[in-house]
Amino acid sequence: MEKKSQNEKFQKALSKCVKCGACQAVCPVYDIEKKENSVARGKLALLQAYMKGEIELTSKLYETISKCILCTSCKDTCAASIEIDRIISTAREKAVKEFGMPPLKKALLEILCGTFPGRKTFLKSASLVEKMFMKKIPSESGLFYKGYFLGRKEGKIFPALSKKTLTEIIDLEKVSDSLSSVLFFQGCTINFISPQTGISALNLIRKSNFTPILLNKQQCCGLPAFFSGDREKAEKLAYSNLEMLSEKKFDYLVVACATCGSAFKEIYPLIFEDDSNRLQKWEEIKGKILDLSEFLSGPGNRIFSKIKKTEKETTKTATYHDPCHLYKGQKIEKEPREIIKNIPRINLVEMENSSDCCGFGGMFSIENFELSREINKKKIENILSSKAELVLTGCPGCILQIKSGLIAKSSNIEVKHWCELLDEATNGKSTID
Ligand code: SF4
Ligand code: SF4
Repeated sequence: MEKKSQNEKFQKALSKCVKCGACQAVCPVYDIEKKENSVARGKLALLQAYMKGEIELTSKLYETISKCILCTSCKDTCAASIEIDRIISTAREKAVKEFGMPPLKKALLEILCGTFPGRKTFLKSASLVEKMFMKKIPSESGLFYKGYFLGRKEGKIFPALSKKTLTEIIDLEKVSDSLSSVLFFQGCTINFISPQTGISALNLIRKSNFTPILLNKQQCCGLPAFFSGDREKAEKLAYSNLEMLSEKKFDYLVVACATCGSAFKEIYPLIFEDDSNRLQKWEEIKGKILDLSEFLSGPGNRIFSKIKKTEKETTKTATYHDPCHLYKGQKIEKEPREIIKNIPRINLVEMENSSDCCGFGGMFSIENFELSREINKKKIENILSSKAELVLTGCPGCILQIKSGLIAKSSNIEVKHWCELLDEATNGKSTID
């Protein structure tokens, strides 16, 4: 009975498409492949045919639905307000139930989501494997490796895993009652690959006169599992995070990762929608969730009085990349730009199409390696044309993808989370020198 109503809901969602084709103009996958199957309209038509029993759920159909980066560009332009992210995730869930997940993807997801027993030990070993078997890229980043797999001539660029995770570097579980508190949810990429971003975010929270809290028990936000069709894993992670957050007192929950923010604001309400008890608990937490840029532009805006003046005149030109999960998902675009404009000696220039997807999409970039790289090339062209010396953004995943695209072009343009620069500016230091 429940399955029947879920299928009816799914079919109803699919039938909303009026076939206007507006999604074609904004789809990064269509832009590269120029095939009807690449765009939302084509995918919806195939899924409709499958639901009517006109076609089988074959591995070809599975491949078609895997070729969506879930950037949601088409959701914003769709006159019928089709929730493509929800539809594709549901379709992937059906495909995973039918075929199971490809073993490599399953293993990667287990590691990414932290449901793999002994993930920390595994990642430490992976760090050693990188050093032993991959080629270090002699770029200014100094933090990337190139691996050659499955006969690919160009190789894939991998970020170096951090020697210590953020929670190993900083212990902030104990909270003082004297100040309002901010629970910082670091997410997996910041914890395992770029802890410096987390350190800067925590510094900024403290310098805004709030007490930062960092919990050791944090799990992956679950978005990679949800978008891969592994609903069961996404639910487990969401339940565990809800339980952990419900036990803690805090005034704000701040994220510096666009993906985690999007999971909390958009996906958790979907996961809890048929569970009124959990949904109610989540609604109470949801009102406190802010992206770091929202927090510093609002309750934490005392940070701007801490920016140190400088006599130095050298400036650096920076451009800002809008992460899909921030710009399209959370509608945040002004706040990070205003913050960047306040950083001394940074001259912000806009690149063309700053909100175009960088091609990352988490598991998408692994499953659709060539396609992800082609989408990324367009972003890199826009960055290079802007003549910026520095790329700033608000998503650690986009940072990895853009860095790897720039390295492939032998460019030494730096890519950073803007919070690292603001942290330096409030310390009176600057990487511009
Ligand atoms: S924009 Fe929306 S309604 Fe129009 S074809 Fe695309 S999915 Fe269908
Ligand atoms: S979500 Fe993005 S990649 Fe997927 S169909 Fe829409 S525009 Fe294309």
